[in-house]
Amino acid sequence: MDDLRKVLFCLKCEQDRTVVLVRNITSSGTSQVFWMCETCEKRAEKKFIKHEIIEGSGYVIDEIRIKEDYSNQTPCIICGEPGEFHHWMPQAFIKEYSLNSKWYRIGDFLCHHHHVDIWHDIVTPGLVPKKE
Ligand SMILES: [Zn+2]
Ligand SMILES: [Zn+2]
Repeated sequence: MDDLRKVLFCLKCEQDRTVVLVRNITSSGTSQVFWMCETCEKRAEKKFIKHEIIEGSGYVIDEIRIKEDYSNQTPCIICGEPGEFHHWMPQAFIKEYSLNSKWYRIGDFLCHHHHVDIWHDIVTPGLVPKKE
Protein backbone atom coordinates (compact mmCIF):
# COMPACT_ATOMS: atom_id res chain seq x y z
CA MET A 1 0.00 0.00 0.00
CA ASP A 2 1.16 3.56 -0.68
CA ASP A 3 2.30 5.68 2.23
CA LEU A 4 -0.46 7.80 3.74
CA ARG A 5 0.40 11.44 4.23
CA LYS A 6 -1.32 14.50 5.56
CA VAL A 7 -0.50 17.79 7.23
CA LEU A 8 -0.59 17.79 11.00
CA PHE A 9 0.74 19.94 13.82
CA CYS A 10 4.01 18.34 14.99
CA LEU A 11 4.56 18.56 18.75
CA LYS A 12 8.34 18.43 18.34
CA CYS A 13 8.65 20.97 15.52
CA GLU A 14 5.81 23.04 16.99
CA GLN A 15 4.37 23.76 13.57
CA ASP A 16 2.38 22.17 10.76
CA ARG A 17 4.32 19.46 8.97
CA THR A 18 3.77 16.72 6.45
CA VAL A 19 3.34 13.49 8.38
CA VAL A 20 3.34 9.90 7.18
CA LEU A 21 1.57 6.92 8.68
CA VAL A 22 4.11 4.40 10.04
CA ARG A 23 4.29 1.74 12.71
CA ASN A 24 6.75 0.35 15.22
CA ILE A 25 6.65 -3.33 16.02
CA THR A 26 7.07 -3.78 19.77
CA SER A 27 9.08 -6.55 21.39
CA SER A 28 5.82 -8.41 21.95
CA GLY A 29 5.07 -8.26 18.21
CA THR A 30 2.21 -5.77 18.18
CA SER A 31 2.17 -2.77 15.86
CA GLN A 32 2.00 0.74 17.26
CA VAL A 33 0.74 2.97 14.47
CA PHE A 34 1.39 6.69 14.48
CA TRP A 35 1.85 9.80 12.36
CA MET A 36 5.55 10.45 11.93
CA CYS A 37 6.73 13.94 11.08
CA GLU A 38 8.79 13.81 7.89
CA THR A 39 10.95 16.69 9.07
CA CYS A 40 12.05 15.52 12.53
CA GLU A 41 11.12 11.83 12.10
CA LYS A 42 9.49 11.83 15.52
CA ARG A 43 5.92 11.05 16.52
CA ALA A 44 3.96 14.14 15.51
CA GLU A 45 1.32 13.62 18.20
CA LYS A 46 1.58 11.82 21.51
CA LYS A 47 -0.97 9.12 20.90
CA PHE A 48 -0.79 5.95 18.89
CA ILE A 49 -3.70 5.34 16.55
CA LYS A 50 -6.14 2.60 17.54
CA HIS A 51 -6.13 -0.41 15.24
CA GLU A 52 -9.93 -0.28 14.94
CA ILE A 53 -9.74 3.22 13.50
CA ILE A 54 -7.20 2.19 10.86
CA GLU A 55 -9.01 -1.00 9.93
CA GLY A 56 -12.30 0.89 9.96
CA SER A 57 -10.87 3.19 7.30
CA GLY A 58 -10.08 0.18 5.14
CA TYR A 59 -6.33 -0.04 5.75
CA VAL A 60 -4.36 -3.14 6.66
CA ILE A 61 -2.07 -2.72 9.67
CA ASP A 62 0.53 -5.18 8.38
CA GLU A 63 0.91 -3.18 5.16
CA ILE A 64 1.77 0.09 6.88
CA ARG A 65 5.41 1.11 6.55
CA ILE A 66 7.60 -0.13 9.42
CA LYS A 67 9.75 2.45 11.16
CA GLU A 68 11.31 0.38 13.94
CA ASP A 69 11.08 -3.35 14.46
CA TYR A 70 11.77 -4.34 18.05
CA SER A 71 10.25 -7.80 17.76
CA ASN A 72 13.61 -9.54 18.12
CA GLN A 73 14.60 -7.52 21.14
CA THR A 74 14.18 -8.66 24.68
CA PRO A 75 11.80 -6.37 26.55
CA CYS A 76 12.74 -4.33 29.61
CA ILE A 77 11.73 -6.34 32.68
CA ILE A 78 10.30 -3.20 34.26
CA CYS A 79 8.19 -1.62 31.52
CA GLY A 80 8.30 -3.88 28.44
CA GLU A 81 9.97 -1.36 26.12
CA PRO A 82 12.85 -2.69 24.00
CA GLY A 83 15.65 -3.68 26.33
CA GLU A 84 19.42 -3.57 26.34
CA PHE A 85 21.53 -5.94 28.42
CA HIS A 86 22.22 -4.63 31.88
CA HIS A 87 25.19 -6.11 33.72
CA TRP A 88 24.53 -6.50 37.42
CA MET A 89 28.21 -5.86 38.07
CA PRO A 90 29.08 -2.65 36.23
CA GLN A 91 31.50 -3.44 33.40
CA ALA A 92 33.87 -0.75 34.64
CA PHE A 93 34.21 -2.60 37.95
CA ILE A 94 34.86 -5.94 36.25
CA LYS A 95 37.88 -4.36 34.60
CA GLU A 96 38.97 -2.25 37.55
CA TYR A 97 38.92 -5.15 40.01
CA SER A 98 40.03 -7.80 37.46
CA LEU A 99 36.97 -9.90 38.23
CA ASN A 100 36.13 -13.23 36.65
CA SER A 101 34.75 -12.58 33.16
CA LYS A 102 31.66 -14.63 34.03
CA TRP A 103 30.39 -11.46 35.65
CA TYR A 104 29.76 -10.17 32.11
CA ARG A 105 27.13 -12.85 31.61
CA ILE A 106 24.86 -12.12 34.52
CA GLY A 107 22.28 -9.44 34.28
CA ASP A 108 18.90 -8.71 32.86
CA PHE A 109 17.26 -6.58 30.20
CA LEU A 110 16.32 -2.97 30.87
CA CYS A 111 15.26 -0.22 28.50
CA HIS A 112 17.65 2.70 28.14
CA HIS A 113 15.58 4.83 30.50
CA HIS A 114 15.44 2.28 33.32
CA HIS A 115 19.03 1.24 32.68
CA VAL A 116 20.85 4.55 32.52
CA ASP A 117 18.46 7.15 33.92
CA ILE A 118 17.25 5.09 36.85
CA TRP A 119 19.60 2.22 37.74
CA HIS A 120 22.95 3.81 36.98
CA ASP A 121 21.85 7.22 38.17
CA ILE A 122 20.89 5.86 41.58
CA VAL A 123 23.37 3.04 42.04
CA THR A 124 26.47 4.25 40.22
CA PRO A 125 26.08 8.02 39.82
CA GLY A 126 28.71 9.48 37.55
CA LEU A 127 29.91 6.09 36.24
CA VAL A 128 28.03 6.16 32.94
CA PRO A 129 28.22 9.41 30.97
CA LYS A 130 24.74 10.89 30.43
CA LYS A 131 23.35 11.22 26.93
CA GLU A 132 20.79 13.96 26.54
ZN1 LIG B 1 8.41 17.39 13.57
ZN1 LIG C 1 12.00 0.11 31.11
